[in-house]
Amino acid sequence: MRKITIAIDGFSSTGKSTLAKQLAKQLEYVYVDTGAMYRAVAYFAMQHQYIGADFFYKKALIEALPKIQLEFKFNPDLGFAEMYLNGENVEKPIRTIEVSSFVSKVAEVSEVRSKLVEQQQEMGTNKAIVMDGRDIGTVVFPNAELKIFMTASAETRAQRRFDELQQKGDNVSYEEVLKNVEERDYLDTHREDSPLVIAEDAIEIDNSYLSKDEQFQAVLELVEDIVKTA
Ligand code: C5P
Repeated sequence: MRKITIAIDGFSSTGKSTLAKQLAKQLEYVYVDTGAMYRAVAYFAMQHQYIGADFFYKKALIEALPKIQLEFKFNPDLGFAEMYLNGENVEKPIRTIEVSSFVSKVAEVSEVRSKLVEQQQEMGTNKAIVMDGRDIGTVVFPNAELKIFMTASAETRAQRRFDELQQKGDNVSYEEVLKNVEERDYLDTHREDSPLVIAEDAIEIDNSYLSKDEQFQAVLELVEDIVKTA
């Protein structure tokens, strides 16, 4: 069967990773969560005091970039790969609200983007990959055979993220989560380098009122159509 590249972009908490994981499992493709890579760099920056509530030593972070080693390792128990930063599993700390509040500032830095984009492109050389992020269909894989752009209202997304954080025992308010979602939307769509935009040839899915399964089936049909027409 013909192998393709699937790019999934969109706003935060639109369920990109849920859809990407479902597709990767069904098609036996590799799944790559590029948000985890930006989050790991933001976590590194926090640990080294390059970024905080009222400071960002961009130059110091840029100089330290060669010392940042990112790797995905497949966890067979979970069925997907986890993010490792310099050999340490950072899946948990990179999902906190603190990292969420700094990540979009770190993701604005062109030097950070070019390092991560290069690594992402290498991971996709053999196709059979589902990658999610903000610039996958526009910058990382502009020739991807299937591009999906996911949206939902900020309130729906904040509620989903709030429920997730609550389940993990993270003590945040809904208002705080909504504020973070809106701030990231703004920064992600207004940055100079690779802003979040819909690729011309992307298929837009607003999933405010779609179940996960309905969405998965619809996208799977799109994949099957493409794979058929070799
Ligand atoms: O996907 P997730 O919400 O985990 O991404 C965290 C942040 O990383 C985004 O808000 C965005 O600032 C940045 N990001 C990016 N480009 C990507 C993936 C994520 O700028 N391809």
